[in-house]
Amino acid sequence: MTHITSKYILSRLGYAAYNSALIWSENRAIYITGLRVESEDPMILGHESSGIVHSVGKEVESLKPGDRVAVEPGFPCRRCVYCKSGNYALCPRLTFAATPPVDGTLQKYYLAPEDFCYKLPDHVTFEEGALIEPLSVGVEICKRGNVKGGDVVVIFGAGPIGLVVAAVARAYGARKIISVDLVSSKLEYAKRFGGAEVFVPGKGTSEETAKQIIEKFSLGDGADVAIDATGAEACIQTGIYVLKRAGRFVQAGMGKEMISFPITTLISKGIVLVGSFRYSEGCYRESLRLVSDGIVDLKMMITHRFSFKEAVKAFETVKDGNDVLKVMISGLE
Ligand SMILES: [Zn+2]
Repeated sequence: MTHITSKYILSRLGYAAYNSALIWSENRAIYITGLRVESEDPMILGHESSGIVHSVGKEVESLKPGDRVAVEPGFPCRRCVYCKSGNYALCPRLTFAATPPVDGTLQKYYLAPEDFCYKLPDHVTFEEGALIEPLSVGVEICKRGNVKGGDVVVIFGAGPIGLVVAAVARAYGARKIISVDLVSSKLEYAKRFGGAEVFVPGKGTSEETAKQIIEKFSLGDGADVAIDATGAEACIQTGIYVLKRAGRFVQAGMGKEMISFPITTLISKGIVLVGSFRYSEGCYRESLRLVSDGIVDLKMMITHRFSFKEAVKAFETVKDGNDVLKVMISGLE
């Protein structure tokens, strides 16, 4: 067993969830949310997790063995300017679970700092605890886009991130949420989970698609916020065209490094464009509040369940399957 230094806890993981963006490939490359990462050595996957505290270091004050926790999977240096400003996802010394060379959480025991473990209320399940991770990504995206009451929000992509963004935007009072995806079965989730209206783009140009969205949903000048959770060039372009003047655009999906981009439109409309990466100070607590208060129902995202011993089957299901959203793997007994 790992030696426990002060302020660290050892968590026996109850559940971990994985989505299609995380695949351990045969050529030893790892795909993390669309970004290809090379790794020389095999690595343990998993970054969406919850568990039971097994033991605690002598300086740990807020948790004790037996407590149920959600585990935030990235540990920053706490000393750099990014950490001090709360944007610790930007910390150059951040270590993040299942990002090479750091092993992930799909193991019996996992060592985590006290302040990156969040105690689950009794009525919040381990599965919901694991899904606090992607929900936190949605909270950060809405924070970056300043999503607020009365906004019209257009979200490109109805995968797990697009869905959690819709749910958070709804929780923050957006009056109209439009989810855009080519796959209509995914849009069914956006309706149910995010309370979104939906749009399937046709073969037109990005400008034409934006015009269709504006007309179909009577958006007048355009949307207040556009969020891309795909990384696809056509979606990014459409997102700029669908915004009203002074609208906000958040880039969250990772795709090609270089794209053709309507930058003159961005200038003439005075659009504010920001990137969003993982999460910052407060997002995990906020996500847990949204779930604990019954505002966001994460259980609706779970489509499959496997035991720890069936983990390979779980990944194959993700790789092959349609209608796969979140696949849960239970902890090793
Ligand atoms: Zn730092």
